[in-house]
Amino acid sequence: MNTRRVRIMTMTAFSPRSRTRRAVLATAAGAVLAMPAACELTDAQAPEDGGAAAARPPDGNGAAGGGAGAEHGSGARGRPGVPMLTVAATGDFLLHDVLVQQAAEDRRSQGRRGYDLMPMLAGIKPVIGAADLGICHVETPLGRREGPFSGYPAFNSPPQIVDAVAGLGYDTCSTASNHTVDQGEPGVRRTLAALDAAGVRHAGSARTAEEARRINLLDVKGVKVAHLSYTQDTNGIPPPAPWSVNAGLSAPRILADAARAKAAGARLVVLSLHWGEEYRHEPTAAQRALARTLLASEDVDLIVGCHVHVVQPFERINGKWVAYGMGNQVANPSANDAATHEGVIARFTFTRGPSGWTAAPAFTPTVVVPGPPIRLHALGPGSDHQAAIARTSGYVRSLGANVPLAPDANPSTVR
Ligand SMILES: [Zn+2]
Repeated sequence: MNTRRVRIMTMTAFSPRSRTRRAVLATAAGAVLAMPAACELTDAQAPEDGGAAAARPPDGNGAAGGGAGAEHGSGARGRPGVPMLTVAATGDFLLHDVLVQQAAEDRRSQGRRGYDLMPMLAGIKPVIGAADLGICHVETPLGRREGPFSGYPAFNSPPQIVDAVAGLGYDTCSTASNHTVDQGEPGVRRTLAALDAAGVRHAGSARTAEEARRINLLDVKGVKVAHLSYTQDTNGIPPPAPWSVNAGLSAPRILADAARAKAAGARLVVLSLHWGEEYRHEPTAAQRALARTLLASEDVDLIVGCHVHVVQPFERINGKWVAYGMGNQVANPSANDAATHEGVIARFTFTRGPSGWTAAPAFTPTVVVPGPPIRLHALGPGSDHQAAIARTSGYVRSLGANVPLAPDANPSTVR
């Protein structure tokens, strides 16, 4: 079910795109809106299917949103009239050489030159496309379409990844990582230009001081959602400008930004954090302490994490959720430990009740299979990758949260 109706807004003028799935509108920053109290949720609460939809609340700014009218979800398990939206977030794209070669091969098989990453990643499209808000992470700077490309330690990745990001149904990507400034200011500029050209919003890096101050505010089924992004470090590379990347996980700074987002009208604030110790399934003490500090604030509603390349647990804190690490979305399936080929799509269903928003978590395990061809699969309950599902489930639940596997968005395509 692809019933998403995402309307994207910006606080400055923004040209509408002609994509049928989304409509874009420009709006001024809204008035300060009351923030509901911290979410309450029982761990046993079942997630809603990503395609479900409920009545859309009044828009509040009077702008028409290209068919974004109220939806009464067929198949929705939410109560009619109860605002509900689904968020799906994923981990790192690590575009090692073999993946770039596969993208060239897939393009060649269409009789064309260049790179096409969509065939490799299409297995997760039913899950991302079914979510009302899809959040990806672009860990590495993007190069020119014709290359040259490079891998670790100074990444320069094919910008064609953004074509796939848009095609998979992502709406916004975090770009703050330890590799953001691997290619200096030109890398930051190319990455954000590629996302802009594809109509995908972004947070975490910037070309100007003004862009860095701007809150990445999206309209999801009539609900304003802010997506912000920060990284713990830049591998010791000094950012070309103070605004190039949101580097350093300063709780006061992040909370100040989250408060600004709420003041700009965001009902929900989602943080993408690039943090943790690589290849370690357990969150560090620093991750756990920061999650506690941030989720203690009513200005932060959800944290999704990247960087460690393996799956880390979900934890419920102050009635809200953190997914510490979602693993790699895609990485070389024949290098490193198998755990780096396994990831999760973290899925959260937000429902607004009388006492505010509540979030129900779920996850879809993913695995990169070496093929050939190399392909990313989303794993459903009937999958033949049961060992991967068991491992991933163990990591997700390792802090005791009984997070369920998400129902298949589309059982015929989820493997
Ligand atoms: Zn990283």
